[in-house]
This record gives sequence, C-alpha cells and structure tokens, in this order.
Amino acid sequence: MNIVHLSAECYPIAKVGGLGDVVGALPKYQRKAGINASVVMPWYNTAAVRKNTFTVVFEGSSQLGNRTFEFQILREVRDTLGFPLYLIRIPGLLDRDSVYGYQDETEQFVAFQLAFLDWAAQITEKPDIVHCHDHHTGLIPFLMYHSERYGSLSEIPAVLTVHNAQYQGWFNWDKVNYLPGIDASKHGLLDWGGVINPLAAGIKCCWRFTTVSENYLKELSVYSNGLEYLFASEKEKGVGILNGIDTEVWNPQADSMITANYTAATVKKGKQDNKKVVCKEFGLAQSKPLIAFIGRLVGEKGAELLPQIIEQSLLEFNSKVNFLVLGSGEPEIEEALKRMPSRFKKNVNVFIGYNEALSHRIYAGADFLLMPSRVEPCGLNQLYSMRYGTIPIVRSTGGLKDTVIDIENENGYGICFENLASEDAARAVSRAEALYANSQRLQLLRKEIMQLDYSWDKSASQYIQLYTQLHEF
Ligand code: ADP
Repeated sequence: MNIVHLSAECYPIAKVGGLGDVVGALPKYQRKAGINASVVMPWYNTAAVRKNTFTVVFEGSSQLGNRTFEFQILREVRDTLGFPLYLIRIPGLLDRDSVYGYQDETEQFVAFQLAFLDWAAQITEKPDIVHCHDHHTGLIPFLMYHSERYGSLSEIPAVLTVHNAQYQGWFNWDKVNYLPGIDASKHGLLDWGGVINPLAAGIKCCWRFTTVSENYLKELSVYSNGLEYLFASEKEKGVGILNGIDTEVWNPQADSMITANYTAATVKKGKQDNKKVVCKEFGLAQSKPLIAFIGRLVGEKGAELLPQIIEQSLLEFNSKVNFLVLGSGEPEIEEALKRMPSRFKKNVNVFIGYNEALSHRIYAGADFLLMPSRVEPCGLNQLYSMRYGTIPIVRSTGGLKDTVIDIENENGYGICFENLASEDAARAVSRAEALYANSQRLQLLRKEIMQLDYSWDKSASQYIQLYTQLHEF
C-alpha cells in the first residue's frame, strides 16, 4: 500500500513542534511494518534542506487565482530519513526561511496543496491513501472530491490527522478563486462561521480523521476554538491514535546530544552527570530538585502562568527547588520570563529561543518536567521526559491525561493536577519536592518511567489498520 503524508513540518528538515516530530517518525515505523509510506512537504531555505541532495522528479505549473506559478517536485536521493521525502519548491511562494509567520500564509499553503494535487493528478502511480496533517493540508480532501480539475483523485481515500485544532487556516471568501474547478453548490463544505476554514473543510470531506490521543478526540467536541459542533457531529469519522516517540532519536543510551549516556539500570549516575553540566551552564545548584519547562511560550501551554507558578512555589510554598525554562513564543510571555532570573537569582534561569540540542540536555539533566498546559492534543514532551527518567508534572488534559498517572494511584508514576491555576501547579511542584526527598522512591520511579513503552510500533499499526479498512472499502 502506498501512503503519502502531507505536512508543513517534518523533522529534521523543518520542525516547530510536535507535528514535525510525528511526521518525521511515523512513516519510518510504518515502513518497518511493511507499508510504503512517504512524505511530501514544502521546500524551505534552511541548512537542513541544503545539507541533503535532491533530484527533480516532476515540473509543472498551476494557478493561484489569476497568478500562474511554476513548481518543482524534488526527491531526496538517499532516503536519509528512512523514507522517501519529496519537497515542493515554488519560487516566490514556498521557498521560505521559516515554516510559519508570513503575511501570505494562505497563498503559501494553498499553493503547496495545489502543486501536490496537480502532480498527483498527472502521475500514473497514484497513492492508495492520502494522509493530510493539520489545516495546512486540510483543503486537499475537499479538492480531491469536489474539484473537476482533480477528478482523477476522487476515488482515493483521504485521512486527516488533527494535531492541533486551535489553528484552522481561516481565510476570506474573496480568495475562493484560489480553488480551481469548484461549483458554488459546494461552498458550504468550505465554510465555517462565514469564512473559508481549511481544517473544517478537511474534517467534513476526509474519509476518516484521527486525533493524536483518545482523550483529545473527546475534548474537541467541547473545546476546539469554534469547531465543537462540527467535531460532535462528525465524531463517527474520528479515531484517537496516541502519538509515539522516535526511540532512535530519543534514546538516553545513545543520544549524542547529552553529556552522559545511561539506561534504566544506570539512571542514578546518568542523571547526576547530566544534571551537573546543565546546572553549571545555567548557574543553578545541583543539590536542589531541577524543574524544567520546554515548549512554545503560548497560552495553549499555560506558559503565561509560569512566572506566577515560579513565584508562588518559591515564596508562598517555600519550595526549595530550581526552575529552568527553554522556550520561545509570545513576546509578553518571553519578557515576563526574562525578568525572573534577576528576581530569583540562584533559583531560576531562562533560555529564550529554539534549541534542539539544549532540549535533549534538559530532558536528561532535569529531575522534573512541568507542563501546565491549557490544551495538549497529545504532548510529546512528557513522553520524552519519561524516556529520560524525568518525572512529569502535568495538568491532566488531552494526551497528558492519557499518558501520565499520578503517584497517588496504584501504578502511578507522575504528578498530576486538575485546575489551570498557578496555585495548583505550585502545589504540584511542592509534591515533586517531597518526592525528590524520598530518594529510594524517586530512583524506582525513574527506572519505571524509562521502561514505559511509548514507541511508535503500536500506533503505527493502528494507522495501518485504519488504512486497510479504507483501502478495502
Ligand atoms: P506542540 O507541538 O504543541 O508544540 P508537542 O509536545 O507535541 O507540542 O511537541 C513539542 C516538541 O517541540 C518537542 O519535541 C519539544 O522538545 C520541542 N520544543 C518546543 N519548544 C522548544 C524549544 N524552545 N527548543 C527546543 N525544542 C523545543
């Protein structure tokens, strides 16, 4: 079976968050399970792209409203990612330095989708399943089934995975002429709340949609940035499949980005060695529990609460802990966090920016990872942290609820809190401090979480089951 994944991100070529991690790993594990999976993504002007060698496999032209554009499909020649990787290059539209944040994001991603469809419509060996990821590819199912231009693709099942429903790719109706060969009777499929909504169109038109955890599928009917009714009414089409982690990339035993490699058996010493280096780098005492945060500094992650959580932990709860934050995002949150190290000189440090290697060092060197998330479709950070023996402190929401069990429960191994409130998070931090003081229990839990199986094998086979059902339909 030939599966084509379409995505704006794919690690290590381009990653902003979990979408990149998933699309960089899932096809690799699907291929191991016997499925011929490949990835199609935009060409970016980045070192990771320039480092690889590509060959042009297709050249074409398409139409974005009145604008004609030329495009190329490039294939990476050595399959270094473990699967065939195709990049779509559209000079002037899809050759950016970064993935997101441009004024003409609509034009950028609509052109990406049109170029893919034009290519797929013209080649003889068609995919068996088109697997779209998030709103950047949400118009593809609509266009496959309702545009005359892409009629040759209308029998192919399309699957859409919702990694994050907060972002939907909205644009106004004055740009409907970007979508070729559509008759007005189909406009209702594109519309949600008076604008064109690519994520909503994808949900309506795909054969099946998946979410990156089971709990997130349930939550979307009550909280999905305006799409609640849509998710509730389409729920029969939805399947929750938990993300896995790429155990080749995230492996404390072999990770070349960390200071000292270790296994569950050697976690005590391994953590000590890694913590020593991280604490030295950030001027924090090694003797205190190190609580880390890694992630986008946005409301979804509860990042605006971090300054208050830190303050309440250190002042009100009088917790003897240190905090280290790695992240970038909304300027006000960045500014508030930048002020923290001068207020709490010996207990807090902050690195504003995106740094993949540092994230690995922190997963390995921290004692606890704090995730006070407002929304968490799956959450990969807690899975990575557990693989590195770092106990997660999480707000029980979305995928965090599916993957972290509180230590108060039988078989529990993490620290959970329910309410999105800094006080509740600070109380959870003080529970972490108490756990840290119980060295024997801490070591046992570290060993236990390192051995939990969150590899892709199980999830990859759930996707394959879904494809097989659709293929045989
Ligand atoms: P989301 O996709 O919502 O951002 P996930 O938990 O699914 O959240 O994935 C986040 C991924 O991005 C993880 O691999 C995490 O380590 C990484 N990440 C987030 N922020 C940073 C940062 N500032 N530096 C390095 N890695 C980061």
